[in-house]
Order: sequence, then structure tokens, then C-alpha cells
Amino acid sequence: MNDPQTPVTTTDAGIAAPSDEFSLSVGPDGPLLLQDHYVIQKMAQFNRERVPERVVHAKGSGAFGFFEATEDVSQWTKADFLKKGTRTPMLARMSTVAGELGSADTVRDPRGFALKFYTQEGNYDLVGNNTPIFFIRDPSKFSDFIHSQKRRPDTDRRDHNMMWDFWTLSPESAHQVTFLMSDRGTPRTLRNMNGYGSHTFMWVNAGGEKFWVKYHFKTDQGVENFTDAEAAAQVSDDADFHRRDLWDAIKSGDHPSWTLEMQVMAFEEAADYRFNPFDLTKVWPHGDYPPITIGRMMLDRNPDNYFAQIEQAAFEPANMVPGIAPSPDKMLQGRLFSYPDTHRYRIGPNYLQLPVNQPISPVHSYNKDGPMRYTHAGDQPVYAPNSYGGPAADAERYRDPSYQLTGEILRSAYTPHPEDNDFGQPGTLYREVLSETDRDNLASNIVGHASQGLDPDVTARVIEYWRRVDPDLGARVAKGLSNGEPLPAA
Ligand code: NDP
Repeated sequence: MNDPQTPVTTTDAGIAAPSDEFSLSVGPDGPLLLQDHYVIQKMAQFNRERVPERVVHAKGSGAFGFFEATEDVSQWTKADFLKKGTRTPMLARMSTVAGELGSADTVRDPRGFALKFYTQEGNYDLVGNNTPIFFIRDPSKFSDFIHSQKRRPDTDRRDHNMMWDFWTLSPESAHQVTFLMSDRGTPRTLRNMNGYGSHTFMWVNAGGEKFWVKYHFKTDQGVENFTDAEAAAQVSDDADFHRRDLWDAIKSGDHPSWTLEMQVMAFEEAADYRFNPFDLTKVWPHGDYPPITIGRMMLDRNPDNYFAQIEQAAFEPANMVPGIAPSPDKMLQGRLFSYPDTHRYRIGPNYLQLPVNQPISPVHSYNKDGPMRYTHAGDQPVYAPNSYGGPAADAERYRDPSYQLTGEILRSAYTPHPEDNDFGQPGTLYREVLSETDRDNLASNIVGHASQGLDPDVTARVIEYWRRVDPDLGARVAKGLSNGEPLPAA
């Protein structure tokens, strides 16, 4: 007999189970019976416990918290959750990019920094990274880039030759690869890194005026990184090091926070700015657009169930609330499509009905049915327009922000701006921002990484790539990779 306080095991249909230990058999030694619905359900459900892992950003950690708008930004945006004093519940998920679900946390990689704000005007998702830039600027190269970072088709192993082959044939990657090979490529904890919206977005105020903006979430814990050796040691000591650190900090009441700083550009300035302001491989120098503090986010609650709340969390850059809109950044335009598309494949078409993805504001949509759909609008009309009181769009109040564009249909690089150059900003980072120790570590991290199985002509291109970032860095890399031997010319 059970202790009366202990709940009785049941099937998923709520029928009491006869045993937690024994299958139904013909005699103690006989074969099992198909009529043992309880055990069959248990085995069948187990076979279906996984959803496909994310094709990128598979290994991640997440927590809940809130965002508090601390300054008046009404001159730039009408977004309700950014009104001074507003507190908005939110979810954050931080992740590595290339590793699979069980991979180690501290490997060299950019980190995803995905945020979901449950606002009164619907969910706002900002799906960025711990770097303000990215490897490429056109989404047509994205799957090729990721293939070069993942496993080879023949050996099923990761391959540094593929990575450097792709990077050196894609010079626009130089800025992000500089970040990646610096000690920022191995953050000490998830709490000790900044998060960036990375793309340029549009903000629109109540009067309809438009601005271009960039988001910078600066860690209040301070930026701290592992050296290459420290990160490697953690890979074997504790593959879940970052996950453990975030969880333990929140559990102990040491709630991590980030201050949100914005860069704001007047709409008209974009056309003639010295860099293309929509190119994801570039930052806006702080001297031109000084960051302005506008709020703070804090993570104060661990998930109760990792699978339900983090593995099934679905972030999508297309979720923008009134007052926030896309820019013509081509990578952002591609991601507006690809995120909801992957969620429909990975979780199912009704992923927005899962509690972690549901908005707190009411949903009045004409979408219906499909696998696992369970909330619905009763006998509400299923088409618009209708004359039976179904929801109706308010085209005046929720107008899309508009601007004039003309152009020929073509495949092309962005229109150049005066100082656009793939190697200029990483060179500035190397010469003017990194400390002497940072520069030493950058050079040795590159040499360590590019010493692993590169073909000679790829090695030669690696040296040329870094020479173009900075001649001194190129010389250090050449020295480290040559081992005193002559190297082939690029
Ligand atoms: P600033 O000197 O005004 O700013 C440089 C910024 O670099 C800092 O504010 C800091 O921003 C970031 N930084 C500091 N240490 C490191 C590091 N070890 N690795 C990477 N970034 C670091 O210069 P500019 O704005 O003119 O930018 C100069 C270069 O700095 C850029 O080419 C870019 O490579 C890099 N940078 C610029 C950022 C920007 O948005 N303007 C943001 C980050 C880097 P933070 O605290 O946000 O990390």
C-alpha cells in the first residue's frame, strides 16, 4: 500500500498504473503482452522525447526576468514597453553556435543572446549575439558559413581547414573573426558578456518620425573572459560550466543584470554615413553615435522545466511591436523569414501556443487548426472581412512605417559608403582598443587555431588575411604558423 500522501502513478490518460516495476507477462518467465498499454505508452513516449535540436545555437541556457525602462525615449519610439518606468517580464537564452546539444559550454564560439519581452502589445523578440557584428552580410551565404563550422560529411568531425578556407575567401568575416579569436571568443560566464542586437533596427515615435538604432546590453557584472587554456580546461572539467554558473547565481539570489544602451541615428543620416549603417559586419563608432542608457534587464528566475521553457522557446526577429520595425540590413531581412520557419519544422506550426512562447496580450488571429492546436476562438468567424463581429485590423492606428525606395532588381553588394572596407574596423580594434595582453592572446589564439590541419594554400591565405587586418598582427601570425620554415605565398 502506498503512503496516502504519495500520488498514484497513472498512464498519461490518468488511469492508475498497476506496477512501476513489472511488465505484464504470461507467467513469470513468459513473453510480454501487447495489451500492457501502460508499458507500451511509456516506451512509445520515450521514443518521442526529443524535438530536433536547433541547427545552430543548439546548446543554450536560459532564465526569466524583467526589463525596466529607466529613461524617456518617447522622442525616438512609441513602443509601450519602453515608456519610462515600465517593467516587462522577459526570457533570455544564451547559447554557443556550432556545437550540438551535449557540447561543451566554454569552446571558442560567438554566443547567442536571445531575448523575449512579454509586452502588453505582443511579444518583442531581440535575437542577437555577444558581438555587435557578424561573419557575413548576405543571408545567401549563411548555410554555407554554418556548414564550414559544423562537421565534415565524410569524417563527421569539425575541420579547421574548412573554417579558414571559408573565412579567408569571405573577407567580410575579418571583423567578427577578430572578435572570435580574441579572448571575447571564450567568455568566462554568460553573466560576464555583453549582448548586442547586432542588426540596425528602425524606431518610430508617436509623430511618425523614424530613426535607425542599435541595441547594446552591457553586462553589469563586467566583461570577463577565459584565456584559451582556461577555456580548454573547463571543456573537460565541466562541459556545463556556463549553464551551472548561471543557474547557481540565480538560485543563490545573485541576479545578473545588463544595462541597455542605444545608438540612435537620424533617418536621413544613413544615406551619407561614412560606413554603410546596415552592414552587419560593421559597428557604428561610439564617437559618431554615443551610446545612450535607456533601461536595465535582470534575470531572477530559473526555468522549472528546461525542455518546456528553454528547449521549446522560440525566438523570432520578426516579432516587433509598434514603434519598432526592420531596417534594410540584408541579414535581418533573411532572419525575419528563417526563424519562424525553423520553429514550424522543429516544434510544430502551433509553437506560439506553448506557454513559454504565448504572448500575455490577447491573440485575435484568423489562423486556425494544425497539429496540437488547443486554444481557439470558439465559433468566431474564420475569415475576414465578415459581418459577424470577428476581429478587424486597425489600419490607421497600426500603419507600417513607410519610406520611399526605388531601384533595379539585381544581385549586388550594398552601395558602398566612403569608408566601407572589410579590414578597417578590425584593424582599429587591434590597434586602438585591445590591450597589449589582448593582442598577444589574439595572435596566439589565431596561431593555435590555424595550426590544426590547414592545407598550405589556406595557411598562406590566413597570413594574408591577418596582414590586411594589421601588418604587425600578420607578421605575428606568419611567425607562429611558419615554425621557422618558409611559407608559400598567398
Ligand atoms: P571606442 O573606443 O569608442 O569603443 C571601443 C569599444 O570596444 C568599447 O567601448 C567596448 O565596447 C569595446 N571593447 C573594449 N574592449 C574590447 C575587446 N577586448 N574586444 C572587443 N571589443 C572591446 O571605439 P569605436 O566605437 O570607434 O570602435 C572601435 C572598435 O571597437 C570597432 O572597430 C570595433 O571593432 C570595436 N567595438 C566597437 C563597438 C561599437 O559599437 N562602436 C562595440 C564593441 C567593439 P563594449 O563595451 O560594447 O564591448
